[in-house]
Amino acid sequence: MGIATAGYTSPNLNKLTAYRNMPIMANSVWTRTLTDDEIEACGFRSTIFMTDTRKLRYYYRFLPEKRLQIGSRSAISGADAQNPRHLQIVQEAIARKFPALAGIETPFFSHGWMDISHDMMPRIVQPDPKQSVFYAQGYSGNGVSFSAYASKQMATLIAGEKIKEADLPIFSSPLPSHPLRPLRRLGQRALYKYFQVLDTVR
Ligand SMILES: Cc1cc2nc3c(=O)[nH]c(=O)nc-3n(C[C@H](O)[C@H](O)[C@H](O)COP(=O)(O)OP(=O)(O)OC[C@H]3O[C@@H](n4cnc5c(N)ncnc54)[C@H](O)[C@@H]3O)c2cc1C
Repeated sequence: MGIATAGYTSPNLNKLTAYRNMPIMANSVWTRTLTDDEIEACGFRSTIFMTDTRKLRYYYRFLPEKRLQIGSRSAISGADAQNPRHLQIVQEAIARKFPALAGIETPFFSHGWMDISHDMMPRIVQPDPKQSVFYAQGYSGNGVSFSAYASKQMATLIAGEKIKEADLPIFSSPLPSHPLRPLRRLGQRALYKYFQVLDTVR
């Protein structure tokens, strides 16, 4: 069995993957199409993605279709994910970063879980040689390109073939668990508050 369900991996699926990732909610917002004046006022010259240097980073991109896409960390719990507060936080960030777009319509808003590993490193492993279970996950927010590579490597392992870099820890060690697992969400809440303060005073 190859497990590739990232932040959506249920703790009940398999003991080998249970609680090995901390699912973190991230979101993304799309503005309406920008006018030429707005594009000029924002100084958008390229469609290369950008990120700021905050602790709770915003990542954004001026898209070829002339919309701004921007996102950041979101709710702590899945139950709170639809809370309009999280959309509002991103809308306020748009106004701060791009004053010409303050109050702009944002017709599209999405959110989802990311698979954050406890040491921020992914793993592509067969964690127990006695069990025919493989997993590729723990991309920690960087899985768009890496998961394509990881899935090829996991397929190679499942086929029983050797991979060149097999002695790297991402192939030779399982995802670490966390000694304070039941308190992780409390810790996340406290950390978000702390990061918010750091981001405000910097
Ligand atoms: C809002 C947001 C923004 C992001 N931005 C970036 C970014 O800018 N750059 C970047 O590199 N990464 C980004 N990521 C992270 C990236 O999307 C993930 O790391 C990557 O998609 C993980 O790939 P994956 O194929 O392992 O898992 P996923 O893409 O999560 O796919 C898992 C699949 O498993 C399926 N699944 C779940 N449970 C089961 C089950 N029980 N049985 C069968 N199938 C199941 C799901 O339906 C899904 O299709 C972002 C994620 C989010 C949510």
